[in-house]
Amino acid sequence: MNQAITGFHRDEEKHWVADLACGHSQHVRHDPPWQNRDWMITERGRDEHLGVTLNCKKCEVPNRLVVFSRTASDPIDIRNALNSLELLGKPFNRNGAQHFLPGPELLRHIILVGCSPSLALTPDTAEGDNLCTINIPPATPISTHHYFISGPRTSAPACPHCKHALHDWHQHCTQWVLHPDISPQCSECNQAFDPRKLTWRRAAAIAQTHIEIWGIYPNEGIPSEQLLECLQHTNDAPWDFVYL
Ligand SMILES: [Zn+2]
Ligand SMILES: [Zn+2]
Repeated sequence: MNQAITGFHRDEEKHWVADLACGHSQHVRHDPPWQNRDWMITERGRDEHLGVTLNCKKCEVPNRLVVFSRTASDPIDIRNALNSLELLGKPFNRNGAQHFLPGPELLRHIILVGCSPSLALTPDTAEGDNLCTINIPPATPISTHHYFISGPRTSAPACPHCKHALHDWHQHCTQWVLHPDISPQCSECNQAFDPRKLTWRRAAAIAQTHIEIWGIYPNEGIPSEQLLECLQHTNDAPWDFVYL
């Protein structure tokens, strides 16, 4: 899924990483002659690439429970909150990002429901991409900006004014994430709308901070009240959840 670059940072090995509108990040290596990206060496070159899209493979992996808040929260506070509930196990490198294996109390706070819910809690019981891991992306660096979190199951929401399906939802929301002072406009009724007012039927979210719990099928795992409350204490704001 194409996602716009919203910023850059360096990893521990000083390699440049692009921050994307979805909350994921991606290395942008300048590695001639294999990858010629000399633009990323200069600040000006990086600035010129804000808004350019990269294909984010992580967005295409289905079966994630995303617990999110519209208000920013410090990832260290989130991590401490999850640790206090014994939700996090060992750190685990997954596709270049830090994830955690499930802690001993994970199933107390992610309540499995449905006919035959299954969750692969350890690497040796996982098949393909279904291993349950948890990651905590950074909060948006700019206080007025949000992430737009969507996935392969996200479908067009209705325009809040005329109720027509907004077929350009991905472009509208990604542009708004980059330029929150410019409201997108419905192509049917031409009225401006606030992407935060859209209804996604738990299949997309606009958030400033979030946690991804991978390997959970839609509606098969629900965060416990205690987990949501514990997260609320980190930023004094409500938290909600969606399935991607
Ligand atoms: Zn992504
Ligand atoms: Zn409309």
